[in-house]
Amino acid sequence: MNERDSEAVAAQLVAKGYTLAASETVADVILLNTCSVRDAAEQKAIGKMQTLAAETRRNRPEVVLGFMGCMAQSRGQELIDRLPDVDLVIGTQKFHRTADYLDDIFAGKRDKVVDVAEEQGSEATIREHVLNGNTASKPVTAFVSIMQGCNQRCTFCIVPYTRGAERSRGIADVVAECRELVGRGVREITLLGQIVTSYGRREIPARDGKSGFVQLLEAVHEIDGLERIRFTSPHPKGYGDDLVEAYGRLPKLVESAHLPVQSGSDAMLKAMHRGYTREKYLGIIAKLRRVRPQMGVTTDIIVGFPGETEADFEDTLSLAREAEFDNAYIFKYSPRRDTPAADMPGQLPQAVKEERNARLLALVNEIAGHRYDALVGRSMEVLVEGPSKRNAARLMGRTRCNRIMVFEGDANQRGTLLHLQIERAGSFTLYGRMANGES
Ligand code: SAM
Repeated sequence: MNERDSEAVAAQLVAKGYTLAASETVADVILLNTCSVRDAAEQKAIGKMQTLAAETRRNRPEVVLGFMGCMAQSRGQELIDRLPDVDLVIGTQKFHRTADYLDDIFAGKRDKVVDVAEEQGSEATIREHVLNGNTASKPVTAFVSIMQGCNQRCTFCIVPYTRGAERSRGIADVVAECRELVGRGVREITLLGQIVTSYGRREIPARDGKSGFVQLLEAVHEIDGLERIRFTSPHPKGYGDDLVEAYGRLPKLVESAHLPVQSGSDAMLKAMHRGYTREKYLGIIAKLRRVRPQMGVTTDIIVGFPGETEADFEDTLSLAREAEFDNAYIFKYSPRRDTPAADMPGQLPQAVKEERNARLLALVNEIAGHRYDALVGRSMEVLVEGPSKRNAARLMGRTRCNRIMVFEGDANQRGTLLHLQIERAGSFTLYGRMANGES
């Protein structure tokens, strides 16, 4: 989501006549988009700004420095008080004002700008894309922001305080953006929101038992030339029968679900205010795999939540075994200000969090390794995205279940769908070759 927000701001600046700088050492404006989900992310952004300030103020004092996004939203003026070299602090509902504020600063109308106010309609302002360049560098995949904010109030999470309440864009508005992207060569779209399955909950009435989100999926599915639809992040609570059933009839909806579980212990899920049990969660995965047996499931897990006992953690290990995740993002619990969990009793020492993180990571890697190995010898459809990052002589694409595949191919296959034979599996990467008859 942060990448998408940054891209929209970059595109808005380009539309105003700015050009993207090749690196921060030659840029006239340097904006850091920030995340507040864990303290480590905030400290990293502050450290980076301190380095930038020291470098630019010595050699190029005219450079404008700014923070955007979640940390800007939660800390506001405090950031300038702490780092006086910062000129601009832009909150999460004000990304689209960045260009105007820069104009004011360059014109000498304002010295410093801090804007972290709420703005009605801001959910529909993240829409511009950077699609410049020749065909060889134009993106094949794109993110589209469908909503802002979150009403879930998980006890560990700062997002409702930094991104505000849930607000959704209209279906026609989202579809128009997707259509334009497809017109420019995009073949796969990922719909983005903090909890996408809550899309349109207040704004769009259910129709024929279908939620606003399923209605949006149907509308995007209609776009000619679009090959694949993904979305992230959903909430397990959002997997009603209408969404599960949509997988059975919307072929562009790929077999991939990022389903944040957070814990395998019912006691922890309750304390986290997640709104489902372990059994319910595993039931959702089973339903999805019944409709689409190839469904690739990834997740987010927090270890070391306040009060997490060894037995609670073992429930998480056993859930990971049962769910057979393709991958999991594991986070060590980080107390966030103003969140209920930060004041809960039973805060765990860092060493316990580290140890549980390492054990869970080893298990997740082992399970994923088996799942990847089991694919060797099979043929899978890949959307070719471009040169492989590690070896530009080879191409890289993604399977429908969101696994990366690397193979020998031709640069003009970019943007096409190929069926590849899987020859070998590495760490979270498949290696393939053109199946017989494919040219
Ligand atoms: N909206 C998604 C949901 O709630 O299902 C997740 C969005 S959050 C930005 C990404 C992940 O960060 C969460 O799923 C959670 O695992 C992790 N996270 C959030 N708050 C955290 C905290 N205080 N400490 C550690 N990890 C945290």
